[in-house]
Amino acid sequence: MSERMQGLVAGGIAGAAASVAAAATRERRATGDATLRMPSLPSSSSSSSLYSSWHHRESSKSFPLGRGGPRPGHSVTKGRAVSDVSAGGTFYEAALTAASLNPRTKEPEIQRCDEPLHVVHITAEMAPMAKVGGLGDVVHGLARACHLKGHDVEVILPGYSCVSDSPVWEDTQDEGYFDCTYRGGTVGVRVVTARVHGVRVVRLIPQGVNYFQGGRIYGGGYNEMEAYLFFCRAALEWLLQAGRRPQAIHLHDWHTAACSFLYWEEYYGRGLNSARLCLTIHNLDHTGECRQDELSWTGLDGASFATMDRALDPRTIGHNPERLSLLKGGIVFCNSVVTVSPTYRQETLQGGAYMNKTLQDKGGRYLGVLNGIDVDEWNPAEDRLFHAAQEMAKSTVPFNFDASNVAGKKALQAYVRAQLGLRPSEGPLVICVTRLVPQKGAHLIRHAIFRTIEKGGQFVLLGSGHLSPEFERLQQNELRDSPDAKIFLFYSDPLSHFLYGAADMCLVPSMFEPCGLTQMISMRYGSIPVVRRTGGLADTVRDVNETADWDPPSNGFVFDGADERSLDSALDRAIDMFTMDPKGWTNLMKNAMEENFSWGPSADAYINLYRENMHL
Ligand code: ADP
Repeated sequence: MSERMQGLVAGGIAGAAASVAAAATRERRATGDATLRMPSLPSSSSSSSLYSSWHHRESSKSFPLGRGGPRPGHSVTKGRAVSDVSAGGTFYEAALTAASLNPRTKEPEIQRCDEPLHVVHITAEMAPMAKVGGLGDVVHGLARACHLKGHDVEVILPGYSCVSDSPVWEDTQDEGYFDCTYRGGTVGVRVVTARVHGVRVVRLIPQGVNYFQGGRIYGGGYNEMEAYLFFCRAALEWLLQAGRRPQAIHLHDWHTAACSFLYWEEYYGRGLNSARLCLTIHNLDHTGECRQDELSWTGLDGASFATMDRALDPRTIGHNPERLSLLKGGIVFCNSVVTVSPTYRQETLQGGAYMNKTLQDKGGRYLGVLNGIDVDEWNPAEDRLFHAAQEMAKSTVPFNFDASNVAGKKALQAYVRAQLGLRPSEGPLVICVTRLVPQKGAHLIRHAIFRTIEKGGQFVLLGSGHLSPEFERLQQNELRDSPDAKIFLFYSDPLSHFLYGAADMCLVPSMFEPCGLTQMISMRYGSIPVVRRTGGLADTVRDVNETADWDPPSNGFVFDGADERSLDSALDRAIDMFTMDPKGWTNLMKNAMEENFSWGPSADAYINLYRENMHL
């Protein structure tokens, strides 16, 4: 394992896990017992099968930026228009349209791999076309990184009606239909495959039911639990019927955790038995609370999972009826469990954390692997939106920039300020790009808007979520005509690119943050993160005041508390340094931009894990 990988991975797949693996291999050789390949699980009293033993993310529009361009006829923004640079459009939509006319960026070459693995992700999201938050980015980034390392990677996605016509799909093939039993009947499933930035994506489109219908990824008019449980069964059924025999099946969050129950209880016995299972927890807050009878829709005996050592949700003990947690069951039933940063792993193991006991029981098979970002997608030197905007503005100064030449950032900032209706200013431009939910520290975001203005800066918020109304009131009252603050309450990938590019600072005051991508993206664009010390934020941001000579250089500002004074302790320092120490600030930007947040090392960690799992 390389040094960087050791730094990225906590929990260690070497050591304890390796000896467990070795012991299991020895035992299996001795007995030839296939059940040893499963995680060591409690037995079910009622099952006679081979192996006896949302959160509701707020809704968003899916958005196809990436290298694929926009989806025709699909507006991704709503709310107050920013400025009309073309009939009925905003500057960032116009830039997107112009950028999509440029030839597609050439994909990097695929490396040769001596022992390629066949890896299948089963997931509710994949960027750029089916993304609500970090989950979509991570699946896209990890799958693509493994694909480029020479592995055979497939991603199975629900057939969301809102992404069906995305031009980001290449080589689209209609693969026909198969039948999937569900809720005591049969549902026909249409299979459409395509490539997304080289990765094969399989869309499973149920027929004659309303699952996954509507204008957005989550929050359609269907029962989400019913739809995702169906998707779990359909994904395994397709793998079985299509003759796929992957070595690794990678599940993500509660939506697909139940695949692990179905795999060992049913599909293993039916011949889909080559894979070991990995579950990535992107957010432990969303546990997939499920009634026992709902799980039975999949054909499993839901009641047999309602024990503490299987999937019983401990928070529902004593309720009538007690419920299951699909995420908890996924932890129990998967060979390995990963969360998305070493510090979040530690936090989730601590006393008081929900499911800490279940995670502790996983021992060395619960790892923390830091997410990466797609450094081709997020690249200020080649961001096609900036290039398009420069042409629209007829600017002789390029809007693209890199660590060695940040002149373009200043030009871009002036352009963005003007387009957003902010007055010209020498003060810092602070941004926040976020889901507006309590986890993200909404009360601190609100405070930071006013504090920034008070300190001579400007603030732009791009956010959406169920706390939007609170910010809508600010937008329509206190900040209505402010030349120093703008609030945009919708989801827009292209606007986020312009904000990351133009900003001097990016605020991420989360109450908890499993990994966080916004601080990494902002650093890549030379916008300095001001973050709360939690989860992946603690792993990626090093405070100016706390960085010793022998450490990697500082790259941002960090605070600890959850109150306004704590936030001020970091935000004030950032604004003061920006104003009073331009040279120091330029160095800080350079440090941030030179960070390596590419997927490479973390993808290696996952590949090692898939290989380790094969020995179980
Ligand atoms: P989470 O997954 O909890 O939402 P992350 O920081 O891991 O948080 O990932 C957030 C991702 O979603 C980033 O790519 C960020 O740029 C993007 N994002 C969040 N809110 C918006 C928004 N309103 N408009 C555009 N992009 C957004």
